[in-house]
Amino acid sequence: MASVNGAAAREESASAKGAHLNILIVGAGIGGLTAAIALRKQGHHVQVFEQSALARETGAAIHLAPNANGILRRLGIFAETFGANPMERVMQYSATGDTERSMDLREANKLWQHPWLLAHRIELHNQLKSVATTPHETGKPVALHLSSRVIDIQPTTASITLEDGSQFHGDVVLGADGVHSIARKQVPEGNVEPFSCGKSAYRFLVPKEAAQADPATQQFVETPGELSIWYAEDRRIIMYPTSKNSVLNFVCVHPESESAAESGDGWDQTGDRDRMLHIYSSFDPAVRALIGKVDPKTVKVWTLLDMKVIPNWTYERLALLGDAAHPFLPHQGQGAGVAIEDAASLAILFPYGTPPEEVADRLKLYQEIRYERANRIQEFSRMLGESRNGKTKLDMNEFSNYNFGHDEWDNS
Ligand code: FAD
Repeated sequence: MASVNGAAAREESASAKGAHLNILIVGAGIGGLTAAIALRKQGHHVQVFEQSALARETGAAIHLAPNANGILRRLGIFAETFGANPMERVMQYSATGDTERSMDLREANKLWQHPWLLAHRIELHNQLKSVATTPHETGKPVALHLSSRVIDIQPTTASITLEDGSQFHGDVVLGADGVHSIARKQVPEGNVEPFSCGKSAYRFLVPKEAAQADPATQQFVETPGELSIWYAEDRRIIMYPTSKNSVLNFVCVHPESESAAESGDGWDQTGDRDRMLHIYSSFDPAVRALIGKVDPKTVKVWTLLDMKVIPNWTYERLALLGDAAHPFLPHQGQGAGVAIEDAASLAILFPYGTPPEEVADRLKLYQEIRYERANRIQEFSRMLGESRNGKTKLDMNEFSNYNFGHDEWDNS
């Protein structure tokens, strides 16, 4: 089967069949845009339908672990060039600031095929958008339809209907429409709703200068490759720098009952800074001084959603990918990474010249390849999110093997 970079293989199959597929993707998040880029690179014609105008994209930082970063690099996307920081050390502290563990990852980094990076979600998303919509040697740029909410999908005919009534027909529909997916409702036994796991998280950025200007918090900006976690029994603060080390990214996880959004919905809910400082009042004063430096207007809060494992990701000419198929809790930073892997797998399974009549079978193969791995990582995320002294103990070898050892893209 052709790799995404396999121009020769593409020509061979093109001369045998001479056809591209028309691919419709619902959702221009990280999964949808990566799938669009990878499938366009195979020579297919791709259209992406995004409900928002993508005018004020939100989101803080995101992990690009070696599994995801390797795929992006093969697609010509190098996150170092738009500000991602290296991940070199993990520091673990008690809530009151005592050092409990220090893990140097620089040696481990040499063993992995690609570096583990800490990227800014908006910078990554902008880059994906730009690569998708720029003309490419393999043909047409991806057609990105913004403010185009999909309200219906017909898997048998690979068709979609937008809110304004217009319809589009293709050979394949990919549902990359996130945790509240409507595409999921079209697969057998997919009509399930995500539910709260009982925890919420504040997420926000603190400018590095703000931390540097205060002697109490200067210590936190000295190490650009460091991820720090302060643990109390049922809450934790995670911090790491990104965006060329210009900002410190925070995710603060606590029981859901203690925080509420002030306004907004979904990924764009505004949280209350003073409430947050109260929730973390038992933490090291220096850490509290640091999180207190956030611009109050930029504090976001979100409920951490889980979902039961669904038995089918595909039906006829429709397949789900990313959060639509398997929404992850964020505790190991693999939500974007596994969506990127899904996208890459689809491109490998659909080389140029794929006969349209093979679409449904190839989508079944996609599920077979991806299902066990994605669900296992989902399970790891749940385990890592348990309270500090939770009952489940993680097998670190298995964890590391799943997260970092694996490189599905290079299928030569
Ligand atoms: P998503 O990134 O959720 O993308 C789904 C896309 O589909 C969205 O752009 C959505 O608008 C679109 N969509 C949904 N329904 C329809 C429809 N009916 N018609 C057309 N389009 C539709 N994760 C973190 O860990 N930290 C963060 O700070 C963070 N911020 C985020 C901010 C935003 C705005 C979004 C959308 C997601 C955020 N995430 C964050 C989630 C993270 O990006 C995803 O978990 C992960 O990247 C998997 O991506 P995905 O492409 O499967 O889904």
